[in-house]
Amino acid sequence: MAYGNVILLLGEAALYFCVMAGLFRLRRQFGLGVFVCALGSLHFLETYLAAIFYMQAPFGTALSPGSIVLFSGKLVMLLLLYIREDAEAVRQPIYGLLFGNFLIVALIWVMRHHDIVSPAPEQIPDFPFLDQMGGLMIFGTLLLFVDSILLILLYERSASWLGRNVTARIALSAAVVLSFDQVGFFLALYYFADVPVAVLYGGWIGKMVAAAVFAGMTGAYLRWFEAEGGKLEIRPRLADVFDALTYRERYQELLEQTGRDGLTGLYDRGRLERQGPMRVADMIAAGRSISLILVDIDGFKATNDRHGHSTGDQVLKLVGQKLTETMRSSDNIYRYGGDEFVILADGMNHDTALAVAERLRRAIESHSAAEKLPVTISAGVATCPYDGENLSSLFASADTRLYDAKFAGRNRVVGRRGAQSGDTTAQSTRSVPGIA
Ligand code: GH3
Ligand code: MG
Repeated sequence: MAYGNVILLLGEAALYFCVMAGLFRLRRQFGLGVFVCALGSLHFLETYLAAIFYMQAPFGTALSPGSIVLFSGKLVMLLLLYIREDAEAVRQPIYGLLFGNFLIVALIWVMRHHDIVSPAPEQIPDFPFLDQMGGLMIFGTLLLFVDSILLILLYERSASWLGRNVTARIALSAAVVLSFDQVGFFLALYYFADVPVAVLYGGWIGKMVAAAVFAGMTGAYLRWFEAEGGKLEIRPRLADVFDALTYRERYQELLEQTGRDGLTGLYDRGRLERQGPMRVADMIAAGRSISLILVDIDGFKATNDRHGHSTGDQVLKLVGQKLTETMRSSDNIYRYGGDEFVILADGMNHDTALAVAERLRRAIESHSAAEKLPVTISAGVATCPYDGENLSSLFASADTRLYDAKFAGRNRVVGRRGAQSGDTTAQSTRSVPGIA
């Protein structure tokens, strides 16, 4: 019977993990809110289950599935959110759970002052129960707050000991934090619910198994479903991660500054190389298109030679500014190097990308004509999945088309011609000088 209970427990962990990791995987289609809300609603009855619901496990121990599956699972999900997104994303549910819990306990405290009537015989609110749960929830959520910050810091720290072995890093940090949590939550259970000391050891063993099982599942998930690219591979300083988790922001500013081009303020090539492959892979996985527009200033050497390097710099800034004004805020713009720029536009199909690139070309042409310093650009446009299924093939297609644009006389946008044509590229628009 005890072994049957363990099998049931493993089934619960697998069900929990599959659904939650599935929601996380679908975050680009449905938004992270679905995953975060699911995490929040699981939290709802977890305290009750963790405090009251026990089952017989081998060696005479009593285990709480609520604590082992729901609580341990939630911590690992928060870590997954940090690993694949960042500190800014994970701090939101951490703080949300804290405030939500305080709010419900406060509301219950106010509500008890009503003149209470019972809708049916014997149906009156169980205030001692609500008090007990309220106390446990406040304590448990404060503990969760500390746990999740500790978990993320430990995960980062463990990179120095365990390197790239993500599964081992998750297992180690989860095991340490769950041990700490087990002692803390037991003290609360002992105080509020009078549970026996045997629960401390039994629960600890259960949580250690949970750390190993969830780490194994998360490692496999990361390897099989999120293998492409990765988040920024800059190892952050622990103090900066802590500042970000506690809304002190320096970490984010640091990330924002690294990976930016000093002259234009746009993202730099390094950031494109770090982020781009994952953006493309995510869009392909979501069955959406993503367009890459490669922009190069025409005759920029001559501009430098004729007007001086600092005027050249002003031209680069102007092009950067026009790019930012023309594109949507969700598009990422990178200065690839010299006078070349790359735009990655999520969910943008080829025709729209061509139209946007053309609008950009005209904006730069007309603005610079008005400033009496003619500047024109050429652009090559490529869209996945048709033109390539990863960043480098997409870039190669756009590069070929940029070359075609230059070859055909510059100041034009080149994209893909219709499938019936043997020629893979075509001039989408011819420039008419002077017309904005
Ligand atoms: P094309 O129309 O074929 O693109 O001709 P081009 O003269 O623009 O040729 P290319 O794109 O190869 O020239 C890039 C020039 O950009 C070369 C370099 O002198 C200049 N450049 C690169 N970085 C900077 C910079 O930070 N500031 C300035 N002012 N010039 C730069
Ligand atoms: Mg150029």
